[in-house]
Amino acid sequence: VMESKKAVVKDDVFWGHNRCRILDRLRLDGKVAYVTGGGQGIGRAFAHALGEAGAKVVVVDLVLPKAEGVAEELSLKGIKSMALAADVSKPEDVQRILDVIVARWGTVHIACNNAGINMNSASEDTSLEEWDKTFNVNLRGLFLCCQAAGRIMLKQGYGKIINTASMASLIVPHPQKQLAYNASKAGVVKLTQTLGTEWIDRGVRVNCISPGIVDTPLIHSEDLKPLVQRWVADIPAGKLAQVTDLQAAVVYLASEASDYMTGHNLAIEGGQSLW
Ligand code: NAD
Repeated sequence: VMESKKAVVKDDVFWGHNRCRILDRLRLDGKVAYVTGGGQGIGRAFAHALGEAGAKVVVVDLVLPKAEGVAEELSLKGIKSMALAADVSKPEDVQRILDVIVARWGTVHIACNNAGINMNSASEDTSLEEWDKTFNVNLRGLFLCCQAAGRIMLKQGYGKIINTASMASLIVPHPQKQLAYNASKAGVVKLTQTLGTEWIDRGVRVNCISPGIVDTPLIHSEDLKPLVQRWVADIPAGKLAQVTDLQAAVVYLASEASDYMTGHNLAIEGGQSLW
């Protein structure tokens, strides 16, 4: 009996000398992270979550005072942080933030590409300007960030990229009129899957999170306000998500606990994509 027990212990990852402590494996101590669109809403919550898990956090936003405000909040919690301004749709901005991060903090381990915009118009009225603007931020911006951060990560053989997609990548939320948004977010998922499979054997994991309808300034725009009530009726959970509902997911995807996961689209939407 003793012998067979020993054999089990020897082969069992849960009892080996390198005993797994799951909460330790979720820690991000010593890691450098950035979050785009970190100045408010979901990005702000991601910045707090990554910082609380131990990472140093660069808060990136189009609007510098917003990024500075969040970096200040993090500092008050004892989290090392800095704020940078960038328009993620501009290659020179993206390269500049990565150059600054590497110059100040040596490298980047966690890239949280979250900045995104949403416009609302019937498809037949969607202007080329609206289409281009949406794609420039949501997809071109994401490509630029993934590529610039990915180059650094591939060189060091390690990195975690977490992109923000949307439940709109999985379903057509009714009665939204968001052709450009929905199409751009479907693109985020395919970009994530492609990079995720292309880079995993060089140590870089790329996943995305698809939030449902989250209570952030984005959904309180005049455009979307009338739709919010209707959306809530479509959520099995019966309520909007709060940004705190998304925080553990970003920590998980940024940590070594998710090392075997890549190209995944993690939906956090109160069941809405299933109805
Ligand atoms: P938000 O509008 O509250 O915040 C977005 C932040 O991104 C703002 O601080 C804004 O200044 C910044 N930003 C906008 N354009 C930028 C650019 N070109 N470069 C850099 N920063 C820029 O939005 P949110 O609700 O927090 O959404 C964050 C992400 O989550 C977006 O990608 C959005 O599409 C996605 N999302 C949101 C919801 C939701 O219900 N709120 C649902 C699904 C997905």
